[in-house]
Amino acid sequence: MKAILIEKPEDTQSVSLTDVNEMKLPDGDVLVDVSYSTLNYKDALAITGKAPVVRLFPMVPGIDFTGTVAESNHPDFKPGDRVVHNGWGVGETHWGGLAERARVKGDWLVPLPEGIDLRQAAAIGTAGYTAMLCVLTLERHGITPDKGEIVVSGAAGGVGSVATALLAAKGYAVAAVTGRASETDYLRELGAASVIDRAELTGKVRPLGKERWAGGIDVAGSVVLANMISMMNYRGVVAACGLAAGMDLPASVAPFILRGVTLAGVDSVMCPKSDRLEAWSRLSTDLDMDKLEKMITTVPFSDVIETAPKFLDGMVRGRVVVPIA
Ligand code: NDP
Repeated sequence: MKAILIEKPEDTQSVSLTDVNEMKLPDGDVLVDVSYSTLNYKDALAITGKAPVVRLFPMVPGIDFTGTVAESNHPDFKPGDRVVHNGWGVGETHWGGLAERARVKGDWLVPLPEGIDLRQAAAIGTAGYTAMLCVLTLERHGITPDKGEIVVSGAAGGVGSVATALLAAKGYAVAAVTGRASETDYLRELGAASVIDRAELTGKVRPLGKERWAGGIDVAGSVVLANMISMMNYRGVVAACGLAAGMDLPASVAPFILRGVTLAGVDSVMCPKSDRLEAWSRLSTDLDMDKLEKMITTVPFSDVIETAPKFLDGMVRGRVVVPIA
């Protein structure tokens, strides 16, 4: 089978699109014929080796895939079933989706929801499903559209684009933060009520800033998240899922103890299956598929390796889909 393979015989890693013996696929009770994979920020880190995402070599990257079950020893799946896979360490410690076939635990797979096809599910991918987890987090903390504006950082990226579209569809006013003014029209098309220059969130972090937003979805971390927290309304809630600006958090406790602000972490990788099923079900009803189309860039399997560094330069708009078969 054809696969992207990351090898690290010595100190430096090499990456190639190559033929791999299918017998070398890792253990699992479901074998999937992969139709589409995707590229996420984490895949870019793995392929470029810019962060220690890959824990086992050789590794097939690709944290997402969609496809059709070829063989199954799992009670929930039979050959021909259409499935989507996100996370669970696939592409990090277990061979992933940038290959013609993948073997995984059936417990990791989600049956494709009604109304979403294999390409759309790949386009949503980990980024989109994480965006949905963030929206669910705001909802669970009582942030309804009448409470005020929701700020979304990295809005032109994968998580940010889907979050913007999902929130707008539910009637929230979205303040979309971007470092790329050139993406203003795109963000308006996704439903952003206002577009904010990222520079407004990268200045010196004050313990308390002017109250601006009822909630936030942050993909950046570091000063961006710290500033966002400092500008939350009384009892505002921020769902934090990313580190595009950095791992640190140079914040003060003032927003938490004086404004009752909540910082809620969102993880998609080990997220329990019940939450995944809820997120995918909500994606099938809430996400406007015409807006999803506007987010998609298709990258051939043969161009994956050269595309990966663009993520780390913040140059990718929306979602990248990789047709495999
Ligand atoms: P993308 O590369 O598609 O989007 C990231 C966006 O962040 C960029 O497009 C850019 O948007 C913005 N950005 C880039 N650099 C900076 C910076 N220095 N400061 C502020 N904003 C910046 O990545 P994804 O959407 O796939 O992922 C976003 C983040 O979320 C990543 O850190 C990823 O690891 C994390 N993530 C976490 C998950 C979890 O389970 N917790 C799951 C999925 C993703 P713009 O130009 O519009 O500002």
